[in-house]
Amino acid sequence: MSLTKILIANRGEIAVRIIRAAQELGLKTVQVYSAADETSLAVQLADEAVEIGPPVAKKSYLDVAAVLAAADKTGADAIHPGYGFLAENAEFADAVAAAGISFVGPSGDVIRRMGDKASARKAAKEAGVPTVPGSDGVIGDLTEACALAQQIGFPVMIKATAGGGGRGIRIANSAEEFMTLAPQASSEASAAFGDGGLYLEKVIERARHIEVQILGDGENFIHCFERECSLQRRRQKVWEEAPSAALTPDVRERLCASAVALAAAVKYCGAGTIEYLYDDISGDFYFIEMNTRIQVEHPVTESITGIDLLAEMIKVADGQPLSIRQEDVSFRGHAIEVRINAEDPAANFMPFPGVVGDLRVPGGPGVRFDHMLYQGYQIPPFYDSLLGKLIVNADTREKAIIRLKRAIGELGLGDLKTTAPLFTALAETPDVLSGSVHTKWLEPWLEANSDKLSGH
Ligand code: ADP
Ligand code: ADP
Ligand code: MG
Repeated sequence: MSLTKILIANRGEIAVRIIRAAQELGLKTVQVYSAADETSLAVQLADEAVEIGPPVAKKSYLDVAAVLAAADKTGADAIHPGYGFLAENAEFADAVAAAGISFVGPSGDVIRRMGDKASARKAAKEAGVPTVPGSDGVIGDLTEACALAQQIGFPVMIKATAGGGGRGIRIANSAEEFMTLAPQASSEASAAFGDGGLYLEKVIERARHIEVQILGDGENFIHCFERECSLQRRRQKVWEEAPSAALTPDVRERLCASAVALAAAVKYCGAGTIEYLYDDISGDFYFIEMNTRIQVEHPVTESITGIDLLAEMIKVADGQPLSIRQEDVSFRGHAIEVRINAEDPAANFMPFPGVVGDLRVPGGPGVRFDHMLYQGYQIPPFYDSLLGKLIVNADTREKAIIRLKRAIGELGLGDLKTTAPLFTALAETPDVLSGSVHTKWLEPWLEANSDKLSGH
């Protein structure tokens, strides 16, 4: 390893995860933090910590100059962006490289090409990967776009090309709705992402969300099989698994091969995820987007393949070729991850930024808990509500669900309200047990089962 010191340009559980991977590789770690995160677990675990600004992310975690100044001051020779914040910001990747520092991720050019969702669709098509029927690139004139929507057939999805985290998406059921919703989506996207560009996609009904983990070093490209993330609320994942219970070996092979073809077509460097919608009746899959970064749900893949994805990312950023060949990647058993958010599921998932009370951490065979918690920790109200991820694995999906229930039963956080009770309820629900779910399954279930979501 020629790298010596890595700066973590993120916070929360993913910062802790990156610190752990870096320390095992023999790297020194620098944690940057906002004034609201001085007491965070990541700051405690890192070798050094540098305050970079006030709580508001725009002036700290999103401030490129402040992050680079911290790297300069501490002599960091690599920067890991985690997910969210600057992770898919091409200008940031360019600025890091221009400062002579290794960015743990693909180049600014690859981020521009694949992080922009309309241009990624184009790259996917060119690589022979099936995409959702829709517009060619970003739409211009609204009246023309509406005519195209009519051709595609309503309902049609209006998506922000710069969108992410489930935001910047609208569904129009008619031409009239289209003309009202498209300008709304555009102004929401330009406020949230600084880019109001929109594109159109046909709505794939009752689809499953299945994504493929890929790794590349610019010359070699491999997949680490798929994850299924069909249990979603407001288009955000809440429960993820690997492998998908819905794939036949034949579909799995074609899906993973298409992801590798796309990674190769853009000469991908680092860890990335290619997301698809899968119609389990027709067996068709459609590319929806690529995330050019580590994903929240990466541990389920680590769990079934035994690959340390964070370590691989850092080694590739160090200039090393991938140490794993495709034929060495296999999977065993079944893993499930649930997102423990500081939100009250009984009160419409209202954020609940309290103090961690009597903390009891789940353990035992097949349990991993990636989190940012310690007893007495005051959760800052400024950032997303993810506190940690509980990951379980077992020989079979059925046993993994039993283990999940057992582990959630062990989790204690005092009076803090979290999404944990939701997962106990889901783990007892027939459609979840049989795997008969799709991306629109959870929301109506939540409406009908609000009584099961309180307490813990
Ligand atoms: P994953 O794809 O890893 O499951 P999510 O979609 O939950 O991740 O997003 C992870 C985090 O990154 C969330 O905090 C989300 O709000 C944020 N995020 C994702 N895409 C963007 C983006 N384009 N701009 C800003 N934040 C984003
Ligand atoms: P983000 O960048 O916010 O993650 P994605 O394009 O990955 O956006 O879509 C997020 C979710 O929205 C998907 O997992 C799926 O549930 C839903 N979705 C996206 N595109 C479609 C589509 N064409 N038809 C049906 N559902 C879709
Ligand atoms: Mg997505």
